[in-house]
Amino acid sequence: MDGSQPPMLRVSPLNRCPICGHGDWCMVAPNGKTAICPRTAEGAVKDLGEAGYLHVVHPDHVTPHPAPRNEPQNTVKVDFQHLSDIRRERAEPRLHDLARTLGVSVDALRCLKVGYNDYDQTFTFPERDGQGNIIGILLRYPTGPKKRIRGSKSGLSYADAWDDGTGPVFAVEGPSDTAALMTLGLNAIGRPSNRGGYSHLADLLSDFPEDRNIVVLGDCDRKEDGSWPGKQGAIQTASEVSKRLERTVYWALPPDGVKDARAWLNEHGGDNPTSMRDCFLEGLQLHAITPPPVIRSFVPFQEPISLGSYRAEMLRRRLFSLDRPGIYLDRSMTGSGKSAIDYRVVLNLFGRTEEVA
Ligand SMILES: [Zn+2]
Repeated sequence: MDGSQPPMLRVSPLNRCPICGHGDWCMVAPNGKTAICPRTAEGAVKDLGEAGYLHVVHPDHVTPHPAPRNEPQNTVKVDFQHLSDIRRERAEPRLHDLARTLGVSVDALRCLKVGYNDYDQTFTFPERDGQGNIIGILLRYPTGPKKRIRGSKSGLSYADAWDDGTGPVFAVEGPSDTAALMTLGLNAIGRPSNRGGYSHLADLLSDFPEDRNIVVLGDCDRKEDGSWPGKQGAIQTASEVSKRLERTVYWALPPDGVKDARAWLNEHGGDNPTSMRDCFLEGLQLHAITPPPVIRSFVPFQEPISLGSYRAEMLRRRLFSLDRPGIYLDRSMTGSGKSAIDYRVVLNLFGRTEEVA
């Protein structure tokens, strides 16, 4: 396409996109010879970034009929895996520049499948779910808020070989910090924000060996008003993952009071960053978060239930037993909350139902 051509026209239900057949989102040239379809990467001659994919429409092309949609009008299906592959190729000649800017290794960026978008000249970072699928693409602008390609879901940044090795795995904030820890020779997973991504994280870590620690690393970003999003997010994330995996999860802040892992690497990494790995590990103060107790039934094939639901059931049965002849037998184990339930039953008799701390 050159600048002398008239502008493209938005498709409509009466003049559908020749590529995907939909009546919205896409653009088509007035002569019908080219189209920009954000839904279809396959067969495109050019990737126009967020605008979509430029297609040349052959004269014998037949407009497809899209399947009736059961989805909300504004969702766009994007093949992020494919898009990420295209972007990666374009990033390759520029990876050294980005590595120098961030102070991380080229190899780490390559393993994180960093891409480049010619259209708006930004580096892109794919985000994945706990199964390894690419579910979105994060755009890295030098300044300003985080942006994702339209249709993206936020996810985790990690390498295919994220769990290679024997040491702990760190769940840090964002892909740059992930690259920084990988540069130190550590296993790392990037979270999309201070408290996001924990269900993907629990999913990814579900088979992580018990003898290797999981450490959620928060940013040291205490605000003037006393709030501390990095620390609060790390504690919340560690608690959620601990609960879901029923195992101990640690949280920590970066060593030496620096803001994040990348700042530490830039300050202490030197020419041989992997030799500094143990220094980083020794500087960490780990805080353990243990999962809430789960009471397991001895009856086979019965699902374990949480202490909270066990207590709710105990209260329900206890209240039901009041004023009824017979013996109420409670064989709950120590610590399951019998006396707390007694107290709640008494409160209940007086018509009060407030929670007991
Ligand atoms: Zn289309």
